Amino acid sequence: MALKKLLTKSMNDHQAGAHKADILIVDDTPENLRLLSIVLVQAGYSVRKALSGHMALMAVQTVIPDLILLDIMMPELDGYEVCQQLKAQPETAQVPVIFLSALSEAFDKVKAFNIGGADYIVKPFQCEEVIIRVENQLALKVSERQIYQLNLQLEQRVKERTRELELANVRLREMALHDALTGLPNRALFIDCLQQAIAEIEEGAEQTFAVLFLDCDRFKVVNDSLGHLVGDELLIAIARRLKSFIQPNDVLARLEGDEFAILLHDTADVQAASQLAKDILENFALPFQLTRHEVFINASIGIAFSGTQHTKPEDLLRDADTAMNHAKASGKAQYQVFDSALYDAALQLLQLEIDLRKAINQQEFIVHYQPIVGIRTGRIFGFEALVRWLHPQKGLIPPGLFIPVAEETGLICQLGYYVLKEACRQLCVWQSQKLVDYPLVMSVNLSTRQFAQPNLLGQIDEILQETQVNPRYLKLEITESALMDNTRTTATALQELRDRGIQVSIDDFGTGYSSLNYLHRLPVDTLKIDGSFINLIDSDGKKLELVRAIVGLAWNLGMDVVAEGVETSKQLSQLKALKCEFAQGYFFSKPLDADKITSLLASNPQW
Ligand code: C2E
Ligand code: MG
Ligand code: MG
Repeated sequence: MALKKLLTKSMNDHQAGAHKADILIVDDTPENLRLLSIVLVQAGYSVRKALSGHMALMAVQTVIPDLILLDIMMPELDGYEVCQQLKAQPETAQVPVIFLSALSEAFDKVKAFNIGGADYIVKPFQCEEVIIRVENQLALKVSERQIYQLNLQLEQRVKERTRELELANVRLREMALHDALTGLPNRALFIDCLQQAIAEIEEGAEQTFAVLFLDCDRFKVVNDSLGHLVGDELLIAIARRLKSFIQPNDVLARLEGDEFAILLHDTADVQAASQLAKDILENFALPFQLTRHEVFINASIGIAFSGTQHTKPEDLLRDADTAMNHAKASGKAQYQVFDSALYDAALQLLQLEIDLRKAINQQEFIVHYQPIVGIRTGRIFGFEALVRWLHPQKGLIPPGLFIPVAEETGLICQLGYYVLKEACRQLCVWQSQKLVDYPLVMSVNLSTRQFAQPNLLGQIDEILQETQVNPRYLKLEITESALMDNTRTTATALQELRDRGIQVSIDDFGTGYSSLNYLHRLPVDTLKIDGSFINLIDSDGKKLELVRAIVGLAWNLGMDVVAEGVETSKQLSQLKALKCEFAQGYFFSKPLDADKITSLLASNPQW
């Protein structure tokens, strides 16, 4: 590029920027100074000149230049020394230095760079080269400054971000420890508070505290009937109401769903905690006034006290929960104080559940059969299949001890499937043995949960197919409460059973809450009157009248009647007089294993 062009470009570049770069030229040869100065001024730089190293150092002190062109060979202070001094001062250390050296001189380039020189130009110099090297160094400096600025900005940004993150973390922690709906502490925070309270007791700072575990009764009904929004509104209202019962240093938390917990500090006596529970329950008798609805809701409360056995907050909460469950089971809107008997019962129940699971896998169940007798003929009409648990250690366990747990845990479905299949298989065996010359009917109990299973009919079909039992000789016993649970689906399910020819009987009739209004609409074949009525008909005239009424009702609805729990001949003759069709009870036979029933059938008994 021609010098003129280069100068014009350099000048334009400079004028574009606001600042005119200030260059200090240091050379003991005035001619060199002059020449360099002319070139650089023409290129648009502002130039200062120094004829010696000392002058240069003074000039730098007044104004720090943007760049220094520094001759090496100078009397007194040579270029190397000047450079070293400049680099030693923090104010001037960053100023780029370009060394000037005559070709004839001994020039130590390595030393020049080592002491901080940025570049060098060999004299005699070419003007173009000087300008390019100067420009390069200035551009480098600008870039360095920009990088420095950017770094500053970056640091600032990082600081701001860090702060934002810290704030977000605080918010997240808040959210992680609080329930979004009610704003109350959640389970995690409540456990923390319990932990702290336990630690304070251990340090002797607190005496005793109590935990109240509150669960709303039938909250699901509100959600199902009025919708979740109303449910949420109710939860907020409950939280607010509960808050009004506690002191500022006590803790109220929402554990989940409709469960709340209260930590009551310094409550040494049962009295105070129970009183609070009573007050809350009493207050819950008043309706909750929501935006569009007035809602009544009850609660059950369990209370547990801190004590030596509680080193873990979870244990304390569990005990309060156990007590609450007992309160609920003993009728709603109650409270219950935890004691260790409750814990033992809960533990036993848990053990039972574990054993039950194992027992199903290891096929520890057997089926016994109890004859159902035709009262008119006095002969065996059929059997009821009754399951027993043959426990390897405990021996034969009656169903009353495990069916409720199996029902609660859902294990009943597997168990029920087994009983149904086994009973059908056994019925086939008896039928093929032709021990009697008429068909026997097998009755099998169906639990509520089993009855509600969506694939129940599929399972029954499978079993019928596999065992080749004629569905007409299968009768399913369903309790009143299972039938009344959901009458619409009940009617459909019963109809589907009837379509297959399977019979249905209502078990334990008289102990549940049958709606007579529904009863006549359900396709049911048999009413089984509960044993608690039958075993008193020979001593209690009112019971006899009740049974008479039930038999009449059954006939009017087109059903026949089985009397359960017949234990005496007097009861049998009374039932005969009432024209009741069938009877079952210890008077005829206890439930027996299949082999014994085979012998019984073979003996062709008649009562
Ligand atoms: P349930 O279906 O009402 O069965 C009749 C119960 O009365 C049987 O008790 C039977 O042994 C008993 N019993 C029969 N005659 C007499 C009598 O003359 N006097 C007295 N005091 N009791 C008599 P078990 O076998 O202990 O069964 C109890 C309940 O367990 C059954 O009541 C039934 O609800 C349930 N259960 C039994 N096996 C099964 C099953 O396989 N599945 C389901 N879901 N439940 C079953
Ligand atoms: Mg039954
Ligand atoms: Mg029964």
